[in-house]
Amino acid sequence: MSRSTQQREYHIVVLGSGGVGKSCLTAQFVQNVWIERYDPTIEDSYRKLIEVDGRQVIMEILDTAGTEQFTAMRELYMKSGQGFLLVFSITSLSSLHELTDLRDQLLNLKDSTHVPLVLVGNKSDLEDDRAVSRARAFATSQAWGNVPYYETSARRRQNVTEVFVDVCRQIMEGEREGAR
Ligand code: GDP
Ligand code: MG
Repeated sequence: MSRSTQQREYHIVVLGSGGVGKSCLTAQFVQNVWIERYDPTIEDSYRKLIEVDGRQVIMEILDTAGTEQFTAMRELYMKSGQGFLLVFSITSLSSLHELTDLRDQLLNLKDSTHVPLVLVGNKSDLEDDRAVSRARAFATSQAWGNVPYYETSARRRQNVTEVFVDVCRQIMEGEREGAR
């Protein structure tokens, strides 16, 4: 891709345990719709054109599924992805724990500690069922090297655009540093 190209294309991968809301977040961002039930086996990519800091950006978003199996597949999309949303549900502590392994695998594959990523605590509308405190999730994000932490609600469309834009900014920032 030439540096002079006006329109950039970035590959974003949405990772996390089954049921945390990866598909709902992706659908809210890409299509502005709330869908109560997704097929849990759906693994597909979506394109969306957005403007970030005055630049036109095409985001190619891979909504992943079945992270437990298909390790070879996972390696492939971790390698080709440029930015990652690591999603858990604030109603499930184990869904946060499972991200630690995913992140380790990601950093190993990228052979770098500086991978554009965002920690996302989804289902923030379910405050009564909260099992992961904000402080706990934030501490995890700090332990990961100050990665940004957001709480989102795909259902209410809260912070949905923000998480995708944040990871996009990190990729752009990395490109600027690389060009220096
Ligand atoms: P995935 O397996 O990570 O892709 O999860 P899905 O996007 O299929 O969502 C799993 C379940 O969580 C579905 O029943 C959704 O309706 C529900 N869900 C997803 N996001 C939210 C949210 O922000 N709030 C609430 N209350 N439910 C959600
Ligand atoms: Mg899904």
